[in-house]
Amino acid sequence: MTDGHVHDAVINSISGPVLRATMRMPFHINEAVKVGPQRLLGEVIRINGSESVIQVYEDTSGLKPGDPVNATGSPLAVKLGPGMLGNIFDGLLRPLKQQGRYVKPGIGDKTNGETYRFSPLVEEGDLITRGTLFGSVTRKHARLQRCMAPPDCDGRVVSIKPAGEYTDDETLCVLDCGDNEVRELSMSHYWPVRQPRPVLQRRPVKGPLFTGQRILDSIFPVGCGSRAAMPGGFGTGKTVLQETLAKWCDADVIIYVGCGERGNEMASVLHDFPSLEDPRTGRPLMERTVIIANTSNMPVAAREASIYTAVTVGEYFRDMGLRVALMADSTSRWAEALREISGRLGELPGEAGYPAYLSSRQADFYERAANVSTLSGKAGSLTIIGAVSPPSADFSEPVTTHTKRYVHCFWGLDAVRAQARFYPAIHPLQSYSRDVDALNHFWSQHGHPTWGRQRQKFLALLEEQARLERMARIIGKDALPPRQQHVLLCAELINEAFLRQSAFSEVDRYCSAERQIEMMQMISRFIRLSRNAIELDHSVESISALPVMRKLRRMGEDIGEDELDDFEDLRDELDEAFEQLTRSAKYEAERDEG
Ligand code: ADP
Repeated sequence: MTDGHVHDAVINSISGPVLRATMRMPFHINEAVKVGPQRLLGEVIRINGSESVIQVYEDTSGLKPGDPVNATGSPLAVKLGPGMLGNIFDGLLRPLKQQGRYVKPGIGDKTNGETYRFSPLVEEGDLITRGTLFGSVTRKHARLQRCMAPPDCDGRVVSIKPAGEYTDDETLCVLDCGDNEVRELSMSHYWPVRQPRPVLQRRPVKGPLFTGQRILDSIFPVGCGSRAAMPGGFGTGKTVLQETLAKWCDADVIIYVGCGERGNEMASVLHDFPSLEDPRTGRPLMERTVIIANTSNMPVAAREASIYTAVTVGEYFRDMGLRVALMADSTSRWAEALREISGRLGELPGEAGYPAYLSSRQADFYERAANVSTLSGKAGSLTIIGAVSPPSADFSEPVTTHTKRYVHCFWGLDAVRAQARFYPAIHPLQSYSRDVDALNHFWSQHGHPTWGRQRQKFLALLEEQARLERMARIIGKDALPPRQQHVLLCAELINEAFLRQSAFSEVDRYCSAERQIEMMQMISRFIRLSRNAIELDHSVESISALPVMRKLRRMGEDIGEDELDDFEDLRDELDEAFEQLTRSAKYEAERDEG
């Protein structure tokens, strides 16, 4: 009551981002509130009699007991509209400013007066139901977007604005919803971040989210609308892999959430992205990207919210009938935010100090990934890829184990591989994909009906390699019989020629489906030819000494996307090498006999 007005509540105590206030008017749980004279944004997270517990999404320094809290009457919501693509926001979707190498916290005002070109898709008298796309919006340097009726709206068009330039708040369409109720629609609308947006139907995964990374697409593929996690210790390549996916995957829209990263790391993402080109369209990648950054120097409660904000933005684009990919780096920092807030609330800590609801919160997040029929009947999808940074790379810690329960693809990043600078450091024996069966069709359509079998074969060889290497450590590699040495040779080739792929190589950072097939078949061919040669008593050394081996190992680097015909030459060379090997052996045998 500092200013003489009657306020809805008054602050009693403050502990970092969490404060307790005595209510004069009852708040709703999860209601957004404005706190203190600066009207900081907060959310009611618990109510005990006349006391409410509020988490504040902004810096609370300067607040004091006795400061007012006012209700807003609605849950924590974000404004979804055409200004999002190509921009960077904080955890509550407020535009961020980048200053030098650092990212500055968001500033309150979301409307900056920018106008967008609107064209109507409906006429007066038309019926608009939930999710109807009633107009299209074009904006300089951004892809075409749609104006969507919010999911809770039904009515007949009374008036619609003609094509022209409008701000995202201006009323474009007026609806008669019956019972004398009129509703005004603009390009943007608000949606509560913790509430999943409705869809007509969730559908099974059908096609892949193609990433251009061989170990993912060919070995552990992720379906469009599916969910994947990449756990890995410090320096195992999570950030590079997330960025690589954001750059090269074939989604229409990318939502990149930097959650709890250092400000300067995020600034490097911001620096990199605008200069990158979309390999498929030649347009700047930023045009299809929304970056949400909640760096470690920003309020911890906003970090907790940033994940929900990002999913909500993803669902919004999905509802336009687009394929959306959401990358979250890292969900562990998000779980730490939950832990910190829970600690301040005095809740009973569960495993490793995390709150008991950690698992259900993670489920809420990953469950929002889906392949759907949208309310307007279009096909859309939201794929979620979360990075996990387990302390000491221990995959048995709570965040990783719970994540495993909710994802379909698990890409375990291995410290030993990373130390050997083998990237991506995804460990083939600690990773899995449950989307494989759904994606056979994709590879068949690309002319590779045996993909599933070849993939199995590769994995079996890698597993056998691990077993044999353990044995070789005891008895020595040379003591292994030729067939087992052959397994080691093939597994080494799979690793070096196929799984290894540098994110920084001009030629190899992206690998099309066609090139992946060529490479997979080339290695399968080598396995077959060399097995035959071993059966004909050729030594493994003579095979690994063949000059063509070097070319096989380097084919990812040497044969680019525009040179796919060169695979034919390599195939001929491979056949020729084995023919010669057999011929010379025959000749030697005949000579010896003679
Ligand atoms: P994390 O986020 O897990 O701590 P980073 O993504 O920052 O690890 O990766 C650490 C370093 O490893 C990078 O700076 C880069 O040099 C190297 N690296 C990681 N992934 C790759 C990759 N796919 N290709 C080439 N180098 C990589």
